[in-house]
Amino acid sequence: MNKLLHIFTFSPVQGFISNSRRLSDLYHSSLLLSTLTENLMKVIKDLNTEIIYPVLVENGQGLANYPNRIVFLADKCICEDVIKNFQELWEGIYETILRKVLDEVGISKEEKEKIEEQARLHLENYFRAYCECTNYEEAKKWKEKLKQNLGKDYDDYAVAYDWTERKLGSLKSQKPYEPLMDAYTYNEGKYPDGCTLCGERVHLAVDWEKFKESLQDSIKHYLKEGEKLCGVCLVKRFAFYCLVRQTFPSVHDVANAKFKEELKDFEQNYKDRASDLKSLLQQYMGEEKPRDHLWEYNAELFDIEELERIKREEEDLSLGIDDLIRELRWIYNNELLSKPSKNYFAIIISDGDSMGDWLGLNSKIRKEKLERAFHEKFSKALSNYAKEIKSLESKEKFGLRIVYAGGDDVLAVADLREFLDFAEKLNPTFKNKVGKDASVSAGIVIGHQKDNLAYLLNEAGKAEKKAKSVEGKSAFCITVIPRGGGPVSFWAKWGEFLSLFKDTIEYFEKEIIGDRTAYDIREIVDKFEASKEKPMEIVLALLRGMLKRRVDKNKLKEHLGKEKRVFIEEYLQELRKLLEISDLENLANLFYTARFVAKERREKKHETVGANT
Ligand SMILES: [Zn+2]
Repeated sequence: MNKLLHIFTFSPVQGFISNSRRLSDLYHSSLLLSTLTENLMKVIKDLNTEIIYPVLVENGQGLANYPNRIVFLADKCICEDVIKNFQELWEGIYETILRKVLDEVGISKEEKEKIEEQARLHLENYFRAYCECTNYEEAKKWKEKLKQNLGKDYDDYAVAYDWTERKLGSLKSQKPYEPLMDAYTYNEGKYPDGCTLCGERVHLAVDWEKFKESLQDSIKHYLKEGEKLCGVCLVKRFAFYCLVRQTFPSVHDVANAKFKEELKDFEQNYKDRASDLKSLLQQYMGEEKPRDHLWEYNAELFDIEELERIKREEEDLSLGIDDLIRELRWIYNNELLSKPSKNYFAIIISDGDSMGDWLGLNSKIRKEKLERAFHEKFSKALSNYAKEIKSLESKEKFGLRIVYAGGDDVLAVADLREFLDFAEKLNPTFKNKVGKDASVSAGIVIGHQKDNLAYLLNEAGKAEKKAKSVEGKSAFCITVIPRGGGPVSFWAKWGEFLSLFKDTIEYFEKEIIGDRTAYDIREIVDKFEASKEKPMEIVLALLRGMLKRRVDKNKLKEHLGKEKRVFIEEYLQELRKLLEISDLENLANLFYTARFVAKERREKKHETVGANT
């Protein structure tokens, strides 16, 4: 092999993305990272190289995302060049965003300069970029060593890849600590506290109340009351200046996807009312003209309780809010529309199992030699997977939004009607694109729209870790976090157990099994808490007895057309399989989490029925 194999990567990625308060922060920060990689790939491509991973999709923005890693071949070592280019691209992005934000704020030139200076301090060394390559001599030596120690003659590509990975790994583990010398003050000598979004750096030394007030009306609402941001978080918040301007829904929007769809009908059926409501929303938002459609406004703007809370908290608000509340109340009272009453939504994160193994020297999964051709094929497969996942989202519907789909990594948000249908497609799609031995695992969190988003993302990460700890993986873990309560998780392998979960939700939803079932199972499980063994037969006998009491024979007949005895025995068979792979606690949690989802879905159904009759 004449060309030198290069691997480039940068960090931190997780921290940059997960310190998000809003869904749009999360979306924009991950899109910003993806754009950085995309732009760097374009630069690298022009340096007489061949990119192996990822696959550059023409006009790919919004279609697919890019990971923070590039593998390519070049005639000579261009590591330094690439790192320099990365830093310049990043600088270009944050300078543009800073300039555009500061253009929109009515403060003095001196104040702007001070903000810029301090923000640069936070931004210029934020990302650490790494690039390594393997030259001919190194590859030859390593190949010899592998041959001596493992007795195998590996392909040149595999040797170079392995050696470059090792070099990169050792480079990344040496993290030089550079303290940030940030001594800026504001309001005559006051030292700033921590940034309210990330808490990692101090906020910019500026009077934030004044700053928000001096912002142009059109972007004022991007800053929340009381927010004080550091340079990095300011750039994240206004990242849309550097991206194709796209609005991303709020968690409230996602939770109330059905409501937003109903807004379309409302607009159709009650044109005059809709037009009045649009002008009231425009007034309240302080926008120049109303938006084209009602569903372009966030769902929280239709939530009377939320509006009343804002009215209490923000005194200097325009009078428009009272008119808006009055109009909405009239619409709901006359049942032209049902209220946006949903509070829970799902976050789904997923990635490929044993991805390192696919490109490892002694891979058990890969059935062929690690050569360039294989790696290219693999990249293409991952790119196709991401594209297919992205295509599941539809702008017309609000119940599913893909925040990120790049390589094997997926991050999505969904409402409680759609999240399982989406999750169910991940593993089969991955197998279809990458290979039958390939699989993904996923962590799913169901949280309240008022919960801290960074907390929910962290819990989703924990759930994914739990799924990844399942033997042979190909698993999922669902964590439900009731408002004011602790997280409860149910985990299992995809396939029949996901069906078991879906079925159990359905039984609760259709009242085939009563709500009490979840508590009864908890009681049964608690009886055996102290015992080390899993007394399978006794537990199943207790479950049988309980189900006999709890299964509603009429509802069962009506919805599934089954005999009670047959239904119970079949159900017990499935529960037995679950008990074979997991403990009693997991069984209790299956019923808890399924009932939770059913309950949250059901209320909606009842309301809709109520509103239409
Ligand atoms: Zn910050």
